[in-house]
Amino acid sequence: MKGKRVAISTLGCKVNQYESAVLAGIFRDRGYHLVEFEEEADIYIINTCTVTHQGDRKSRQLIRRAARTNPGALIAVTGCYAQVSPEKVLAIPGVDLVVGTKDRTKLVELVETAEKGLMPVNAVSNLADDCEFEEMPALPLQERTRAFLKIQDGCNNYCTYCIVPYARGGLRSRRPEKILEIASALVAAGYKEIVLTGIHTGSYGQDLPGDVTLAGLLNKLAGIQGLSRVRLSSIEPNDITLELVEILAGSPVFCRHLHVPLQSGDDLVLQKMGRRYTAWEYTRLVGVLRENIPGLGLTTDVMVGFPGETDECFDNTYRLLKKTSFSRLHVFKYSPRPGTPAAGFTGQVEPAVKEARSRKLIELGGTLAAGFAASLLGQVLEVLVERQYQEETGLYEGLTDNYVRMIFSGCEQLIGSIVKVMAEEVRGTAIKGRIV
Ligand code: SF4
Repeated sequence: MKGKRVAISTLGCKVNQYESAVLAGIFRDRGYHLVEFEEEADIYIINTCTVTHQGDRKSRQLIRRAARTNPGALIAVTGCYAQVSPEKVLAIPGVDLVVGTKDRTKLVELVETAEKGLMPVNAVSNLADDCEFEEMPALPLQERTRAFLKIQDGCNNYCTYCIVPYARGGLRSRRPEKILEIASALVAAGYKEIVLTGIHTGSYGQDLPGDVTLAGLLNKLAGIQGLSRVRLSSIEPNDITLELVEILAGSPVFCRHLHVPLQSGDDLVLQKMGRRYTAWEYTRLVGVLRENIPGLGLTTDVMVGFPGETDECFDNTYRLLKKTSFSRLHVFKYSPRPGTPAAGFTGQVEPAVKEARSRKLIELGGTLAAGFAASLLGQVLEVLVERQYQEETGLYEGLTDNYVRMIFSGCEQLIGSIVKVMAEEVRGTAIKGRIV
């Protein structure tokens, strides 16, 4: 097997990206040669997403593209779409192996076994039997700036529109000692920022013995010597406790950035979605967060076109978004996911209406992001330098702790370090500044 070329393509969320990076490391360590997905490879791995029907469609497109690039290659399909629809994936010509969201650390062995066989292999496991976090090797050290650290998998919430509990299974938390061990190793390797990822991070620890909580984990992470930044990638509104707010506000290690999915600003829609808060409760939570964490960058997910969403419901969402001054919106169009309760709800919204509502919110998102960036002008912000922005101009770019992209004159040696930048001019949703 050694020396064979492997190409990996990933769709979906940060968790999927994290897992693909881990898979790449495993293949590399076993002597495989990683190549770009567009190149000819001996093995193609497609890490799929199924959160919307677009995820399904793009997953199928990538599989077909791999089969076209090298018809003789072995094609292994993994991830969420593979987990929930293995038969559909196996029916695509060229697919040799289907692995779901479990057993991915065994992918090399599964690929090597599949190479010997003639028939496509369905290696998707039943997630109902799965009650422990699947330990993965620490993320291989490729990037020099921020590292993703997965703290849990799965979700027990079962919002009525969401396929994720079916694709990922129930809550499984990683042991805190393991997380602290990896975080310390990442700091020792020079990482300045650790992004905690998971499917439902707020429920962290509920399945572990003893009093293990996200708040407790954050407290321990804050004590790691030399760790500059910890970012929570996403947290549900119901999981934000006063204790958690105090911890986040109490240490400069925690980025002043939270991604708190709203989904809708209309109580009727929220109720039908199975979300466990009202628009008023969400707004009150934002007030508490802003009071305790000055300069907070608040980002959110919002869904348009949920069954039964009338113009009036949509207007409620629009108004709430506008007055909450989010710094970034992720707008999704609802798409019925087979097997979820909402797929059978009456009042499905016409695609053209979804499209118009989506466009309106994307436009609002741009205005809100520019407004948040403008509110930071004149401030000196700490920026983690990521990469060159434009070769000819000598400009570099990076993110502030409150999740705004900044552009400034710099040099290669600064990549991976945190610099102070004066915010001088809004450029779209980013800020142009100068190192001070
Ligand atoms: S967890 Fe959700 S968003 Fe992430 S890849 Fe799976 S379906 Fe897509």
